[in-house]
Amino acid sequence: MITAPENPSASPLAKPVATIRGVGPERAAQLARLKIATIEDLLLHRPRRYEDRRQFRPIAALQLDEPATTHGTVVALGVKRFRHGQKSVFELILDDGTARLHCRWWNLPFMEKYFEVGDEVVVFGKPLLLKPRTIDHPETEVVENGEENFIHLNRITPVYPLTEGLPQRWLRSLIWRTLQDAEPNISEPWLEPLQVTGCGLKVEGNRVAESAKPSTSNLQPLTRVPSRSNAIHMLHFPEAPNDPEIARRRLALDEFIGLQLRIQLRRRKFEAAAQALPCGGDNHLIKPFLASLGFQLTAAQTGVLREIRADMRAPLPMRRLLQGDVGSGKTVVAACSALMALESGYSVALMAPTEILAEQHFRNFQRWFEPLSLCVELQTGSHKTGPLRSTKPNGQARQNAPAPLSPARTPRLIIGTHALIQPDFEIDRLGLAIIDEQHKFGVAQREQLLRKGRYPHLLVMTATPIPRTLGLTLYGDLDVSVIDQLPPGRGRIKTFVRSPDQLPKVWTFVREQLAQGRQAYVVYPRVEEAGPGGVKAVTRELANLERILAPFRVALLHGRMKAAEKEKTLAAFRANAAQILLTTSLIEVGLDMSNATIMLIENAEQFGLAQLHQLRGRIGRGSRQSCCILVSSADGDEARNRLGTLEETTDGFRIAEADLKMRGPGELLGPQQSGMPDFRFGDLRSDGDLIQTAREQAIRLLSRQQ
Ligand code: ADP
Ligand code: MG
Repeated sequence: MITAPENPSASPLAKPVATIRGVGPERAAQLARLKIATIEDLLLHRPRRYEDRRQFRPIAALQLDEPATTHGTVVALGVKRFRHGQKSVFELILDDGTARLHCRWWNLPFMEKYFEVGDEVVVFGKPLLLKPRTIDHPETEVVENGEENFIHLNRITPVYPLTEGLPQRWLRSLIWRTLQDAEPNISEPWLEPLQVTGCGLKVEGNRVAESAKPSTSNLQPLTRVPSRSNAIHMLHFPEAPNDPEIARRRLALDEFIGLQLRIQLRRRKFEAAAQALPCGGDNHLIKPFLASLGFQLTAAQTGVLREIRADMRAPLPMRRLLQGDVGSGKTVVAACSALMALESGYSVALMAPTEILAEQHFRNFQRWFEPLSLCVELQTGSHKTGPLRSTKPNGQARQNAPAPLSPARTPRLIIGTHALIQPDFEIDRLGLAIIDEQHKFGVAQREQLLRKGRYPHLLVMTATPIPRTLGLTLYGDLDVSVIDQLPPGRGRIKTFVRSPDQLPKVWTFVREQLAQGRQAYVVYPRVEEAGPGGVKAVTRELANLERILAPFRVALLHGRMKAAEKEKTLAAFRANAAQILLTTSLIEVGLDMSNATIMLIENAEQFGLAQLHQLRGRIGRGSRQSCCILVSSADGDEARNRLGTLEETTDGFRIAEADLKMRGPGELLGPQQSGMPDFRFGDLRSDGDLIQTAREQAIRLLSRQQ
């Protein structure tokens, strides 16, 4: 990204680190382990932390449990062995004139060879005792006398991630030297459109080079940040404590702009090549479908359908993400969208992540579409129905039906799992591809499904609320529709956070509810082994729960049970033969029992907010008021505030934002979100403003090239 514009690979910054004087094959191999291959990689190697070595803390002033940097002279050292030589401790005693400090390393006797009496040593660590002052396993750096000390001492000093055999001082000196030589070669990648080519993007022709210099008024957000070259300097050798963060934000901005440019370019390429199929429909199937549904669409559903219809009539193929909380009614929206394509004479594919979900959709759509004489097929690993078999309510083939049109000409709805994207499976005249639970699929699978047709329309659906910043990075090339309203007639869910000492009252409340004929879920984090700090496991708590709640009956459900056992347990709960379902987060998706109105989750701090939100989506399914009780022993304001978010709101998006801030994106992204780069500097949790700026900047940069 900081390469010269004309030919990135010829840039001095793209040279391998082995070309730097003093970097031999062994050092190069060590650097490679840190993913440092080029000079640019070295310059972007981010310090792990900084030590303010302008003033060391006197040893006498060290505080218990408070991390600090100090230094002193080695006055004694040695290894003590015990337990017949199996265990050892290496001890180093430093003196700085104010007091002595004992540094200890357990079972690392070879440490001895790194120090000598008389060495001056910089130490960073957390005192664990004050009598005598002791730090276990501190980070240390031996001061060597030499002209290079201005790099390592008397400044805010960077401390880098290392790998075995690579000394901190050596790496710091290398980065210092390299930076002196390279700084003139670090150019601004974005301020001049010419240099857009420097980020690994291909910009066709030479138009870029001819475009006028940007007017500075367009560049408000960037003029307030340091140049890239300054930022890299500030990253390694800051002058003020705040410099590293200023530098990080500037470098993060470059990363986000790079990503947004890729997204926008992909979008442009798509717009230039794609021709949309006319799939707006004429209502002749939707009208009877809606009339047969038995409920009215919510305003949110209708609004989304209006957007989808406009897309499916537009000259460009639809690329739309539909977000809606669990139970908000996305399936009906998918059905209406499918009908638009079918009305227009095109086939539709609906892909779901599991067979169970695909089969559930298949049953629903069959029930809905059969009266309309439409063809619904199932295509999963274990089930394949032909176009004819599924069209009768009793599931039998239409024996005496007139020969159908050639199947190739009959528009069909094909529902399936990954089986849909197998190479040998073909879909004729694919007009619309729908992906349910999109976050369970990768971008590559989405593309594979689209390739079953010629630029079909695409609707992807997810119940995982994705905060705006993440949406702009993950789905920057999709338009977003939101169902922000639940169907009417659902009971409200009240949520309370309680501490374990309030449990007796909670159990009394639960028993009252059970006595009124309600049912309850009790959720613990673990299956078999209780965890540290009293984290409960369902199998261990069963007897206890039976005792507390007798005469009501408790059924146990967890992921290590066999499928048949699970079925049996669920059937018992469904039939109210058991009033309490004791279970794990296994029930996060799928269960739908309207008589269950109570959910008690213990050790609630063990779960993510978004996950707790999905869990409590299991109650509040009927028209009665439901109640979710989160029991947590976690003290501290942060844990309290976190769970408090759930007391305050049932808005999945607000909850996801809060979760993202506190726990990072992993939880929301799911396992397969490939296409998401690893950011060195960018932080999806806190850089929402930068992502927004980057998006605007990318659009501006590209429009200048028109
Ligand atoms: P999700 O968005 O989680 O996929 P579903 O599509 O499964 O939600 O819908 C949940 C339930 O709500 C289904 O039983 C569905 O038939 C019902 N439903 C959907 N829309 C409405 C509506 N407008 N009015 C009443 N019930 C609805
Ligand atoms: Mg769904």
